[in-house]
Amino acid sequence: FAKPADAQHVLDSIHDQFQLGRETMLDLTGQFLEEFKVGLSGYNHPMAMIPTFVTGVPDGTETGTFLALDLGGTNMRVCEVVLHGDKTFTLRQQKYKVSDALKTGEATVLFDYLADSVDAFLTSHPPPSSHGGQDPFSEPTADVVHLGLTFSFPVEQTALDSGTILTWTKGFSAKHAIGKDVVKLLQDAFDRKHMHVKCVALVNDTVGALLSRAYTGGGCVLGAIFGTGTNGAYVEDLSNLRKLANDPAGSRGGVMVVNTEWGAFNNTRSHLPSTPFDNALDRQSINPTFQAFEKMISGMYLGEVTRNILLALVDAAPKSLLFGGKTTVVLNTHYGFDTSFMSGVEEAWEGAEARPDPQGAPVPQLSAFENPEKLDADTKVRLERVRAVLVKDLGFVEADISLRDAVIVRWVCSLVARRAALLSGLAVATVLIQTGRAVFKGFSDKLTKNEDKISVGVDGSLIEFYPHFEETLRESLRILVGEEVEKKVEIGLAKDGSGVGAALCALQAAKQL
Ligand code: ADP
Repeated sequence: FAKPADAQHVLDSIHDQFQLGRETMLDLTGQFLEEFKVGLSGYNHPMAMIPTFVTGVPDGTETGTFLALDLGGTNMRVCEVVLHGDKTFTLRQQKYKVSDALKTGEATVLFDYLADSVDAFLTSHPPPSSHGGQDPFSEPTADVVHLGLTFSFPVEQTALDSGTILTWTKGFSAKHAIGKDVVKLLQDAFDRKHMHVKCVALVNDTVGALLSRAYTGGGCVLGAIFGTGTNGAYVEDLSNLRKLANDPAGSRGGVMVVNTEWGAFNNTRSHLPSTPFDNALDRQSINPTFQAFEKMISGMYLGEVTRNILLALVDAAPKSLLFGGKTTVVLNTHYGFDTSFMSGVEEAWEGAEARPDPQGAPVPQLSAFENPEKLDADTKVRLERVRAVLVKDLGFVEADISLRDAVIVRWVCSLVARRAALLSGLAVATVLIQTGRAVFKGFSDKLTKNEDKISVGVDGSLIEFYPHFEETLRESLRILVGEEVEKKVEIGLAKDGSGVGAALCALQAAKQL
């Protein structure tokens, strides 16, 4: 890469590898629909399409007071949720840290800790009945508190209130838990302590997002998470959920919420256009070949894909293309470059005016940086802001970073994030087609559902904070299902989705008792 022209060629080539053409996106959607079908028909497929036994969505008129316990990441939360029946709720919550020792020790010790935390919460937050409210923890026997558990790990659910833990993820590896019923593990812990708490419902965080958005928005068809990981749950006709055909719950007719586990799309790696930077990430991950789609989309991985590209440019021979060949501890550390740094870089470039590039950042034209003093004042100011962020987040000193470095880093961030947002839209489009809200060649030729609005509840830092993530996701929808359908899609944050969703599930369980 000695000559400037060659350096430009390197950037152009990386740019090309990250583009998703219309044809590729359509092909991937077809493949996604196929994997949906296979997962709905049988067990042990990468796209798990897990039946949740949630057979309806709320409309906002639901009432009651419930406890919710949310386990799925660094923190565990206990909350009390009061549903007012007018699409509003109040929520009081307490976070409890889950130490590494608890995550990796005996499961009974972990579940005892969860029970102790619920006990501590009930002591510090007395139930509404004892401070003048009504409907204490939605009976049926007023002295038993009903609790919904949001458990965001892979579970094969067998009823609304039971499910087998398939595997741990996200740094958990508690012993003697795999293969056991998570609700029973928790209930046994409550019972050991003689607590009057009954775990009546088990819910995944995607289902929580769906239900809570349905409650606050008066209906919802899809709950989707774009945070540490990505996943979605949607409302499916039971007649399509063929693997439940012989289950009493499946032969009743009506609908059921399905947890897709779409992060596993393309685990076979035949379709997604992986780059060498994705392949390196996968090879060095704790779950090579698994969660292929998630690895191109979610917060846990985007920073790492970006870091891989930046390092390739630093290491380019015979002449480094970035940072004059220097690196920092952050850059040299596996997963050291957090996805939130990418947001920071893009925000710095945009400044207060938030001027997005419609097609993502263009490839930097290196010839323009041969004389940086000739850059226009606006570009200079913006790149200086990016440089300041790189100094802060990566641990460089200012003198190590040229404006050319700044423009390259910003372009790389945009490249990786734009591909993620387009692929996220692809998952949403697949659900719209699968549920008859959009047509797709070869799969459907007419709409079977034609509402004025299509409500989608989302949660996760990526969609909440990454600049223009939602706009790009919508661009993807326009490509795949057309502007008319895209305009009907209302994307709303499912705030407190885990807590409210668990409460709504507990309510459904109480009705079925
Ligand atoms: P979780 O999915 O674990 O419930 P979050 O939704 O907060 O939690 O997602 C955390 C992930 O989001 C992390 O991988 C982190 O890198 C990423 N993240 C945090 N803040 C931002 C941000 N401002 N922009 C983009 N990504 C972010």
